[in-house]
Amino acid sequence: MGRNAIAANGTRSADQLAEWIERGMRMSHVYQPGVLRALLDAGGVATVRQIAQSLLAADEAQLRWYEQRAKTMPLKVLRKYGIVTMEGDLVRLNVKALSFEDRARLRALCEHRIGEFLEQRGLATWDARLIETEPVPERLRYQILKRDRRCVLCGVGPKEARLEVDHIVPRSKGGSNELTNLQTLCDGCNRGKSNLDDTSLVS
Ligand SMILES: [Zn+2]
Repeated sequence: MGRNAIAANGTRSADQLAEWIERGMRMSHVYQPGVLRALLDAGGVATVRQIAQSLLAADEAQLRWYEQRAKTMPLKVLRKYGIVTMEGDLVRLNVKALSFEDRARLRALCEHRIGEFLEQRGLATWDARLIETEPVPERLRYQILKRDRRCVLCGVGPKEARLEVDHIVPRSKGGSNELTNLQTLCDGCNRGKSNLDDTSLVS
């Protein structure tokens, strides 16, 4: 077998994998190298959940969403009680020097409070977001785009902007997938609207 041949079972040498990463991989997003990086970090074998966690850790949109979430809800409350102080983006826990045992005990208490809450609420803790990501069925999308033809807010057509189908009352607030609750928005108007919807989402 020549130096550049790939073994019959598909196993590549490090050089061959490097060559594929550099020149063979066709990318439409950062996901492929993200998955490979996660596998390399895990020593070659990982669960799908581990890979997802690794992609999540590098997902700029998710990180910004959580930064916003952290600032608007928990940090505001924790500051009010003097538990943390903030200087710009730097958050400081207002506590005297902790021993290893102190830190372990306090950490365990946080885990316990999280556990209690999750036990009570279950998946509903994140339900609003799980529902929100559920797409509008294709058949309905087509019907709505055909009915409205343009963004119902600013009036741009499909040639000027990407048109999306939006829930007038968000799914997280009990809005249905019925025709009367669906409208066509351009991506710009939709982003503006979903930012507004988001601020009142239960955290
Ligand atoms: Zn618009």
